[in-house]
Amino acid sequence: MSEVYGSIDLGGTYIKCAFGDAEGQLLHTETTPTDSHTGPEGVLGRMAALVRMIEAETDLKPLALGIGIPGLVNLREGSTRFLPNFPTQWRDVPVREILVPSLECPVYLLNDVRTATLGELTFGHGSDNCTMAFFSIGTGIGGGVVVDGKLRLGSLGAAGELGHYTILPDGPLCGCGNRGCLETLASGPALCAAGVRLVRSGLAPILHEIAGGDLTLVTPRTMAEAAAGGDKRVEEEILRAAHFLGIGVANVVTTLYPDLVVLGGGVVQIGDLLLKTVRETVEERIGMFPVDEIEIKLSRLGNNAGILGGIALAMKRGLLDD
Ligand SMILES: [Zn+2]
Repeated sequence: MSEVYGSIDLGGTYIKCAFGDAEGQLLHTETTPTDSHTGPEGVLGRMAALVRMIEAETDLKPLALGIGIPGLVNLREGSTRFLPNFPTQWRDVPVREILVPSLECPVYLLNDVRTATLGELTFGHGSDNCTMAFFSIGTGIGGGVVVDGKLRLGSLGAAGELGHYTILPDGPLCGCGNRGCLETLASGPALCAAGVRLVRSGLAPILHEIAGGDLTLVTPRTMAEAAAGGDKRVEEEILRAAHFLGIGVANVVTTLYPDLVVLGGGVVQIGDLLLKTVRETVEERIGMFPVDEIEIKLSRLGNNAGILGGIALAMKRGLLDD
C-alpha cells in the first residue's frame, strides 16, 4: 500500500471525508450531516469521528489531513477567519489546534474552491507548470487561479474569487453586496430562477412536462433536457447564462493568459451547449492575442474535485512550502 492521506470537504449540509493515495485513488469515503447549528465544537467533533471511523474500517492511518473550508482561512495557523454561511461565522476557530491531538496527524486548511482547484491541478486536467483558472459553478460561483504550476492565494488566501467579477454594472444584488456579479447571472440558482419563471408563465411546456409541474425539479440538468427537446425560451436562458460565464472566462483569460480554463460544479452538467457558448464568447471578446491554444474544458474530477483537492492539500503539506 502506498502512502495514504485524508481529506474532508466541509459543506453547509454534509461533511464528506475520504482517504486516498498519492495517485488520486479514493480508498474509502464517508458522509455525515454537518448540523452547523451545533457550532464549531459539534462540527469538528463529527469530522474527527468520520476520520476515526474510516481508520477503523480500513485499518489505515493517514499521513496528513487536508480540509476544504467554505470561507476564508488562515493557512499558516490552520484556523478559520470567516465562514459566511455558518452560524457564528466561525471567526478565529483554531481547527488545527483542536483536531491534531485527537487525530495525531498534521491538519491543513484551505478554502473549498481553492482546494478543488488544487485537486484539478494535481489529479485532473492540470499539469506541471501550467497556468490555469478554475470556475466552480454551483449554488454560488467560486474560483481559483494557478500560475506557473502553483496555486496563487494572495495574503488573505482570497485570490481567485472569479464569481464576483462585475459583469452587469446595474445587475441583480449579490450576496457579497455588489451588483451584477457573475454569480448573480450564471450560478445554479440564477439559471433555475429563470427556468421557474418560464414554467410559471407557460413559456416552457417541455420543461413543465419533464418536471411534472414540480418546480423543485427545475435544475440545470432538466433545463438542458428541455432545451434539447425544443423549449426555445429555456435554451435562450441557458445561452444567456453561458454568455455571461464566457465574459467571466474572457476576463480571467485577459488577466492570466492561461493554458487552460476548467469549468466545474453542478451547472456544468449542461455540457456542450455551455462549453460551446463560453468558447465562442471568449473568441468574440478577446482580440489582444490569439486564444485558439487556450483550452477550455469541463472538470475531469466532477463532484470529486473538492475531496481529491483535500488529498492533494495533505500531500503538499498545506502549501506551506510554496
Ligand atoms: Zn458578488
